[in-house]
Amino acid sequence: MKVVKIDHLGIAVKNMTQANVFWENALGLTSCGCENIDEQKVNVTIFPVGESRVECLESTSPDGPIAKYLERRGEGIQHVGFQVENIEEALTEMKQKGIVLIDEKPKIGAGGAKIAFVHPKSTGGVLVELCEK
Ligand code: ZN
Repeated sequence: MKVVKIDHLGIAVKNMTQANVFWENALGLTSCGCENIDEQKVNVTIFPVGESRVECLESTSPDGPIAKYLERRGEGIQHVGFQVENIEEALTEMKQKGIVLIDEKPKIGAGGAKIAFVHPKSTGGVLVELCEK
C-alpha cells in the first residue's frame, strides 16, 4: 500500500455559513464550492490549502453520521483523509493485517473520489478515511 499524502481534514460544523467565516475571512482561504453528498447526508465545502484541503461537513439530516458526531463530540476535526494510490489494494492489505474497516468496499465521496473509512478502534481513536482520485 502506498499513502501519497494527507489529502484533507474533515471538520464537522453545525452551520456551514457561520463556520466558513473563519476559513474565508480569518485564514483567507477560497472555497471551491459546496457539494451535497446525499448518500452520507452531508454538505461539503472544500477549501484547498496547498497540497491538502479542509473539508467542512454540515449534516443534512438528524440521522446522518455528522449529526450523530456533533451530538456526541461537538464541532471539530471529525476525520483525517489519506490519499492512497490504490484503494482496493489498501483495503485488502489492511484487512489482512486485522484492521477493522467501516467500509470494506469503496464508495463515492466529494469530487467523485473513491473513499472508505477505517474504524477508530483500530487507529487509536482517529477516524481515518482512505481516498483515491
Ligand atoms: Zn473526508
